[in-house]
Amino acid sequence: MKAPTTSQSSSSNNDTGDHSNDLDSDPIFHLRSRTAAAGTLQRPQIQYESLDYDVCENKLFHAEQRKRLRDRFSLRIHVIRWIIFILIGIITALNACFVNIVIDLLSEQKYKFLKASVEQNVPVNGGDGDLALPYLWWLLLSVVPVAVGATMVTYIEPITAGSGIPQVKCYLNGVKVPRIVRIKTMAVKTIGVITTVVGGLAGGKEGPMIHAGAVVAAGISQGKSTTFVKDFRIFKAFRDDHEKRDFVLGGGAAGVAAAFGAPIGGMLFSLEEAASFWNQNLIWRTLIASIISSFTLNIVLSAYKGLENFTFTGLFNLGKFKEPLTFAYFELPIFMLFGVAGGLLGATWNALNTLINKVRRRFVPWKLGKVAEAVVISIIGVTLATIMIYFIDDCRPLDKERISYPVQLFCEDNEYNAVAALWFQTPEATVRALFHDEEGAHNIRTVGYFTLVYYFLACATFGLNVSLGVFIPTALVGAAWGRLVAMQFLDWFPDAHFLNPGKYALIGAAAHLGGVLRMTISLSVILMETTGAETSFFFPLIIALISAKWVGDYFNEGIYDMVIEESHAPILPWEPVPQYKGLTALEILSKPVVCIKLRDSAHYIYEVLLRCDHNGFPVVDDVKDNRRCEGRVCGIILRSQLIVILLKSLYVENKRFWLPETSIQTFREVYPRYPSIKSVRPLDRKENYTVDLSMFMNPSPVRVNNHDSVPKIFNIFRALGLRHMLVISNENRIAGIITRRDFIYK
Ligand code: ATP
Repeated sequence: MKAPTTSQSSSSNNDTGDHSNDLDSDPIFHLRSRTAAAGTLQRPQIQYESLDYDVCENKLFHAEQRKRLRDRFSLRIHVIRWIIFILIGIITALNACFVNIVIDLLSEQKYKFLKASVEQNVPVNGGDGDLALPYLWWLLLSVVPVAVGATMVTYIEPITAGSGIPQVKCYLNGVKVPRIVRIKTMAVKTIGVITTVVGGLAGGKEGPMIHAGAVVAAGISQGKSTTFVKDFRIFKAFRDDHEKRDFVLGGGAAGVAAAFGAPIGGMLFSLEEAASFWNQNLIWRTLIASIISSFTLNIVLSAYKGLENFTFTGLFNLGKFKEPLTFAYFELPIFMLFGVAGGLLGATWNALNTLINKVRRRFVPWKLGKVAEAVVISIIGVTLATIMIYFIDDCRPLDKERISYPVQLFCEDNEYNAVAALWFQTPEATVRALFHDEEGAHNIRTVGYFTLVYYFLACATFGLNVSLGVFIPTALVGAAWGRLVAMQFLDWFPDAHFLNPGKYALIGAAAHLGGVLRMTISLSVILMETTGAETSFFFPLIIALISAKWVGDYFNEGIYDMVIEESHAPILPWEPVPQYKGLTALEILSKPVVCIKLRDSAHYIYEVLLRCDHNGFPVVDDVKDNRRCEGRVCGIILRSQLIVILLKSLYVENKRFWLPETSIQTFREVYPRYPSIKSVRPLDRKENYTVDLSMFMNPSPVRVNNHDSVPKIFNIFRALGLRHMLVISNENRIAGIITRRDFIYK
């Protein structure tokens, strides 16, 4: 907040009762300058604002509602909403198809080339070989895509770094994350994830696809692109944060459905992990978006693969189990132990990753350094893989159907190198291999070292300035140690036939995912949908997931929540925290409150907006001695609305010019990028214009009494997705204001 200016000559009062000199005599400005300055010392640097999920039901809104009823437009709006959800499903799936196909094509070329290079340079039939040239090629083919992706993310759109799920989660919680749902963001994310996966980093495409789904949803539902400055003049009724939030939720679900081919999992993922607010209608629409998304994916990929019956089995993208997965009841405690191990390993992984990222932020702040870091991790990955391939002797009989790029390397004819097979494919294909390879497909040492290397590699990778998801590497590590444990016990007890390595790889993946991500319902459904496991196997999966979650939760939060915490985004938890107990609104509210009078001078409003950066102002009347901060509450008005009022000169004095054509659309037209107050022509003190807010303000803001308990008002605040909550006295006079920051930092 800027320092107040000194008083100048007062202008004559009109019906607002006061004018420019109010501001200078207003004690609030002096006081708030001081509190704001003091506050910044205690709080982390905050660059986030909130979204307005509370619908502003002002007179213009009601006029529109009545008109819709008259014109029978409500049904049309309803139908259009469904159409938009269907479009979101289709376009998200098309984007996913593009990513899938490009990754498949490029990876195929890369690993075919590497296989050929190995075969040319290393004599077959067990002879000594020189891996130097293939290693250099592997480095080049990994480092170049990774460097391209990291450069794009770092220099073009840094918000695209990481999986995108934490950011979408913040958005749905009501935090405005800058540039999160822009087309440019989606373009960089899409190319970024392709380069990351093709470059062979320990990351997956799932998180970015969910983010892409959210961007598609936000873009389509608004019928305009702010990036391309193009307004298609459609879907105008949906241009507000509340509507957009619901579409973004559908987009996220469609993204999961497209990424995994898991429609129900998509909807559940959105509800469990991302959605802060939902209702029955929204669940339906989200489910439709997910189903349409996975259906479209199926059709397009089937057509691409030349299938006639349009049932592309690749949609079970973690591979369908050939034999039904069975279990005996004595295995249940084993599944629980797997869960406990997953919880411990996951919690350690989360803590380690957070630590690495803190060090990273501190010591590598420059852009070039961030790109270099991604390149270094890529080099380390390739080098470790090459060392494993070189030193571990693991030759297995060749089964061309199963192994994508069999490399004979140091093996006899009709054999392939099992270590190379694990590394010479995308991480997703490796998860598939660990789930479905038959019992003797690897030796224990191979899987043991692979688990160890991948665990730390994934930990160092998540947090690099590249677009990648954490789901597949986590599933991969879990599948590896799950399989390893089964193999080891099978080695000790060869008669324990229930120890099917594939089955335990799946349980290990579930346990590790539960330990890192801390989701249970959606993960178990996603795993079942992506592997075609029987419904009866839901029970073992959920046991492993829940045990992992409980154990992990004892130590720290899920990785997405830890990322959010590190970013200092003011996200509201699900439940009121225990510290709120016994507190009343009086103890967390902010006062004195900067208020605006129901009829106030345009000059005063202009100065308020210029001098303080709050986004909401209580509207008051019955003001005594110019002390607005003690007035009687009539409603609330947002900064964005005030700016539009000033920008369009919606003053009482020239009412006859603007009143007929002013509607709620006048405000929606500038949504979502409202101009700043600096773009409003400075008002001359002689321009004694008056603004009457009765038409524009929200006359029914949520008000609580200053003696209401904090847990209670927190629940109201969160459930309604509020941005501001007014605290009033028994006489309906303003006593204070509460925003999400007051819940978090007080
Ligand atoms: P947001 O940033 O969440 O979009 P906002 O900018 O209106 O909303 P905050 O930045 O969260 O509000 O507010 C910072 C602090 O200022 C909080 O303690 C809040 O209670 C207080 N505050 C918000 N609006 C006013 C106001 N009109 N008058 C006085 N204090 C306010």
